[in-house]
Amino acid sequence: MALIVQKFGGSSVSDAESIKRVAKRIVETHKAGNEVVVAVSAMGDTTDELLDLAHDVTPIPAPRELDMLLTAGERISMALLAMAIRSLGHDARSFTGSQAGMITDARHGAARIVDVTPGRVRDALDEGAVAIVAGFQGFNRDTRDITTLGRGGSDTTAVALAAALDASVCEIYTDVDGVFTADPRIVPLAHKIDRISSEEMLELAASGAKVLHIRAVEYARRHGVTLKVRSSFNNTEGTLVINESAEERAARVAVETKDGRTVEEPIIAGVATDLSEAKITVVGVPDVPGKAAQIFKIVSKTNANVDIIVQNVSAAATGLTDISFTLPKSDGQRVLTALTAEQPDVGFQNLQYDDQIGKLALVGAGMRSNAGVSAQLFEALYDAGINIEMISTSEIRISVVTRADTVNEAARVVHRAFGLDGDAQAIVYAGTGR
Ligand code: ADP
Ligand code: ASP
Ligand code: MG
Repeated sequence: MALIVQKFGGSSVSDAESIKRVAKRIVETHKAGNEVVVAVSAMGDTTDELLDLAHDVTPIPAPRELDMLLTAGERISMALLAMAIRSLGHDARSFTGSQAGMITDARHGAARIVDVTPGRVRDALDEGAVAIVAGFQGFNRDTRDITTLGRGGSDTTAVALAAALDASVCEIYTDVDGVFTADPRIVPLAHKIDRISSEEMLELAASGAKVLHIRAVEYARRHGVTLKVRSSFNNTEGTLVINESAEERAARVAVETKDGRTVEEPIIAGVATDLSEAKITVVGVPDVPGKAAQIFKIVSKTNANVDIIVQNVSAAATGLTDISFTLPKSDGQRVLTALTAEQPDVGFQNLQYDDQIGKLALVGAGMRSNAGVSAQLFEALYDAGINIEMISTSEIRISVVTRADTVNEAARVVHRAFGLDGDAQAIVYAGTGR
């Protein structure tokens, strides 16, 4: 008997009909002789609606209460799903995150799973029931409070359950056929990837491809969980996320030249875009040793996630330079406040805040040794008249920052330039993309 964890996202359970459809799918897996654990998200756009509601009540909701509120969304879907399965004649039991033993640290809104003690889930399975677990939520033992794992965190709930219960596979069911070479809502000619390495998936997720929660990919890699992404709207094989060793990757990108040398050839996995970041520019920083350290020490104390950093050459006449960096918009205000407080000490002139930026990332193995990839990317953007404001590279990624209103077009032209366009338009079965 195999144990299978299935996760259904909000777009797969957006109304009563969808819940019944998903229940049938779960029952089929159960009937086939498997033990089934389900992680479920809140229905449709419930989480966004609850967030809106909170902000209608107060501009800065208390984090503890916000988590209390948001976890209600998953409570609704888990109970309805359990009812639907029971009405099909199969036993099912729903559990909140804390009942299912999802133990986290205390960080509201971005908690990390530190332990999973799924005793009650195991008992339900032993009694022949399907266990339904509310996604995206946990419990902290010190504060004894309910936490949430961050947007998209139900994927991580599913993977953590799969690891703790030693499941044979963790299937992430969503509203597209798998992981594509780009977000099909933005690049209609994106095509499905059959197998993707966890490293490339991590980079895509970190660069804004919300099809998988980044922590879910990390957790799966660390615990050796077999992770699949597939559609809840049909039976096509989805995408398998594979753990590739450094040697396997080297072999995948290796090509032999005519004169018998082995070189790396870039193999592009896909393109991702992100509109959730902003740029802060610290203007007029004295160009003397220690200033960057001072600035980023202040920033790091705010726990903000800084991504790309660019420092300009100082103007010889003034001895002053500018330092720009990107960070999530949600961290923006906090960082501005912290830097302003230290302005006299650091000695910069002023701060600029720009929340109209877009980030585009091209991800793929074998890029490191290929300056040609950067050149091709920049040329594609130049041909489309799109200006590049910042650039950063890693071993398997090149990111550029553009104006927000050009980043989707940038994704389409880059996708085309690297030969990723498929033959047919990708289908998105549901969801509002919110
Ligand atoms: P769920 O509600 O199932 O968790 P999400 O909205 O979180 O679904 O994730 C699925 C969505 O991710 C798709 O509808 C698609 O618009 C978006 N997406 C972004 N990048 C990609 C990609 N590379 N491949 C597939 N989907 C992507
Ligand atoms: N409902 C939560 C969200 O919308 C968690 C999830 O769907 O994964 O972010
Ligand atoms: Mg999701």
